[in-house]
Amino acid sequence: MSKWKTRTNLVHAGARRSQYGEMSEAIFLTQGFVYGSAEEAEARFIESGPDEFIYARYGNPTVRMFEERIAAIEGTEDAFATASGMAAVNGALTSMLKAGDHVVAARALFGSCLYILDILGRFGVEVTLVDGTDLTQWQGAVRAGTRAVFLESVSNPTLEVIDVKGVAEIAHRVGATVIVDNVFATPTFSKAVEMGADVIVYSATKHIDGSGRCLGGVVCGTKQFIRKVLEPYLKHTGAALSPFNAWVMLKGLETLDLRVRAQAESALTIATELEGHPKLSRVIFPGLPGHAQHRIAMEQMGAGGTVVTLEIAGGQAAAFRFLNALEIVKISNNLGDAKSIITHPATTTHQRLPPEQKAQLGITPGLVRFSVGIEDVGDLLADLKTALAAV
Ligand SMILES: *Cc1c(COP(=O)(O)O)cnc(C)c1O
Repeated sequence: MSKWKTRTNLVHAGARRSQYGEMSEAIFLTQGFVYGSAEEAEARFIESGPDEFIYARYGNPTVRMFEERIAAIEGTEDAFATASGMAAVNGALTSMLKAGDHVVAARALFGSCLYILDILGRFGVEVTLVDGTDLTQWQGAVRAGTRAVFLESVSNPTLEVIDVKGVAEIAHRVGATVIVDNVFATPTFSKAVEMGADVIVYSATKHIDGSGRCLGGVVCGTKQFIRKVLEPYLKHTGAALSPFNAWVMLKGLETLDLRVRAQAESALTIATELEGHPKLSRVIFPGLPGHAQHRIAMEQMGAGGTVVTLEIAGGQAAAFRFLNALEIVKISNNLGDAKSIITHPATTTHQRLPPEQKAQLGITPGLVRFSVGIEDVGDLLADLKTALAAV
């Protein structure tokens, strides 16, 4: 484990320098590696050292730098990078499960995560969905054959915060592995290991890139899980992160803490300012004392995160008028970007859910998800208030 603090790790952990002593991390844009002799090739296929690579689907020096850096800040022994966040979620679950296994998952999940649970069902894994915020439901659903529990620590888009420590205690009593999709918590505010998570998954596409350039993902966990369970599955199924994208993510990590803390501070200012606004029927932000899981959010993140969800009074028509009147804030569906982004989940990211499921998840026609960027918070507030006045 690293002896440095997070900010130092974000800039230096995992760095590998070539014989040229380059300052900025090199992009090793190569899929293969040359061996000095046939004997050396043979030896490397039997066992590779930490700086010995075989093929970029298995590992690459730039990708390895990214994996070591994220593991250092997450506080896990190891990490494996993937081509996208979904490849990371799929890899974490599929690599450890087989027909007959049982999984318990929170029902408020990103659409693609729900799809992966459906695929697992097709291959004979039994999945039970629960209200993630209700520990008695987790307790009622786990049993001796439960191999894994899966949850998003903060749900999208309604920002329910799940008590990771409480769920982990319940899961560990039956020997289940706790897999946490921690995108909304961000690596900056993550205390997932401390809370009892065994495997932590990020879509690096979001805050880690932070400038909306590349897709990427990463799974963090013990050396045993990452190298003995996950790596064999991922290296043979081919969801490897491109070395170029790994380099973009490495550079993103350098400024991650600065960006995310600034975004979270602006998010709190905006949520506080907009609470009680006459055009809004709800302001949802875990950093507000009135949020149903405020205490848990403070304990497991120490902040409310970088996303604020608003419900515009007047339904979809009012929400669309609000979106269309924004000038700085862009209509798009990424999050964690330096640029502020707004999404209308009911007609975009969650469009395909049947109306009953939308209602159950609280995805109402007036709901909008606002990912707070790093712009001047005064400018953002003025943009939001002007657009609200147009509703
Ligand atoms: C975006 C996201 C994903 C998927 O990540 P991609 O990089 O788009 O594949 C998974 N989980 C959550 C919570 C996300 O926000």
